[in-house]
Amino acid sequence: MTVQASADVVIVGGGIEGAAAAWALTRKGVCNVLVLERATVGSGGTGRSSGIVRCHYGVRSLAVMAWHGVQLLTHATEILGVADGVGFEPVGYLVGVGPGDAAALAANVAAAAAVGIDTRLADPTEVAELWPAADLADFAAFAYEPRGGYGDAYRTCHAYLAAARQGGVRVRQGVPVTRILTSGERAGGDERAGGGEGSGGRAIGVELADGSRIAAGTVVLAAGVWSAALAAGVGVDLPLRAQREQILLVAPGAPVGNVPVLSDLVGLQYVRPERSGELLVGNSDHSRPQWVDPDAYPGTADPQYVERAVGRFAHRFPGLPEVALSSSYAGCYDVTPDYNPIISATPVDGLFVAAGFSGHGFKISVAVGELVADLVVDGDSSHPLIPAADFRLSRFAENAPLVSPHPYAGAGQMR
Ligand SMILES: Cc1cc2nc3c(=O)[nH]c(=O)nc-3n(C[C@H](O)[C@H](O)[C@H](O)COP(=O)(O)OP(=O)(O)OC[C@H]3O[C@@H](n4cnc5c(N)ncnc54)[C@H](O)[C@@H]3O)c2cc1C
Repeated sequence: MTVQASADVVIVGGGIEGAAAAWALTRKGVCNVLVLERATVGSGGTGRSSGIVRCHYGVRSLAVMAWHGVQLLTHATEILGVADGVGFEPVGYLVGVGPGDAAALAANVAAAAAVGIDTRLADPTEVAELWPAADLADFAAFAYEPRGGYGDAYRTCHAYLAAARQGGVRVRQGVPVTRILTSGERAGGDERAGGGEGSGGRAIGVELADGSRIAAGTVVLAAGVWSAALAAGVGVDLPLRAQREQILLVAPGAPVGNVPVLSDLVGLQYVRPERSGELLVGNSDHSRPQWVDPDAYPGTADPQYVERAVGRFAHRFPGLPEVALSSSYAGCYDVTPDYNPIISATPVDGLFVAAGFSGHGFKISVAVGELVADLVVDGDSSHPLIPAADFRLSRFAENAPLVSPHPYAGAGQMR
């Protein structure tokens, strides 16, 4: 088969991470970049994101990456050159925990403040003013981020790509990549990931569903949960699974006011306002993940889930007796074993991965793009507080997961 096209860098996947990486590459002078998207831009996890923006992470590098996200989203009009920003609503972010998690909360807030993140503990009186409809009785402690809020991942993804196109990036939609091409192709693919770079040949391009090939010096795999199958084709094991998440939109029956996003780590739910006056209600209980085929799962919430979620919601907001379910939908997190992303070189030279964002990928996307560009161009992170080693693929084989030093009971590693 003949090679029909080429690029310095091919990015597989037109979700928010591929888009952010494309834009970041142009800012490092790498402009001969081709983004290949099998469907349409933002049609994967990006289009289903709740868009919550918080820096409240126990893992310091993630907190710093999220803080970069706050700056980008706040100043998107100037930074990305888009007329009306990207839909960020800086309504604030509030997290409440029970007595067993109060010490962890304080430690996480102190660690974040120490690296310059605008966050602090909040007392119940202040929280009651921020969220008048909430019953706060079973919370023991709160943290508040006045500059947090929620945004629009789909719109942000398109804005990254618009900026990337200005820099020379080409985007092709409706183009499924079926195979990564390597110089040292192995029939059995028995070389498994886990070591450093360089043990599995060299990426030389990709093959598309129509059989055509695109030559590339570098391939960035940013295809969400679908990255695993493509990586497996060149003997790289990406430990990714699709975890179904169900989202409810509820009409509260009465105006709730100008409320911040609330992470309720007692009820294990999150609630954020919509511009319509409705509330978006998501799940923070990851004790029984629902693993699914990302191409075949129920697209709306299950009745049993709705019943459980409505119970949790009613417990937290007893003052909203006329709540009605407006609609529901479901999406998939691309989850790694430690619920943290893989942003990494691989055993195949020239093949990089940005996948496994495990439900955090919107807010950190600008920093993800920069880290990918750093790895591709310089081989290391340019940011001392975002060490490339944190996100290396080999941590799984080394049994050295990236975990929070101050986790919360029940919320797993999502915080
Ligand atoms: C329900 C839900 C709620 C979330 N809430 C939040 C939140 O509140 N805050 C937050 O920060 N994050 C949140 N996230 C996470 C965040 O949205 C994701 O981490 C992020 O969008 C992932 O982006 P991505 O580019 O890695 O993947 P995706 O958006 O899935 O993009 C991957 C792309 O690759 C394409 N692709 C797949 N295979 C191929 C192939 N073979 N060839 C070419 N293209 C291919 C797909 O079509 C897709 O467009 C949420 C996610 C979900 C699902």
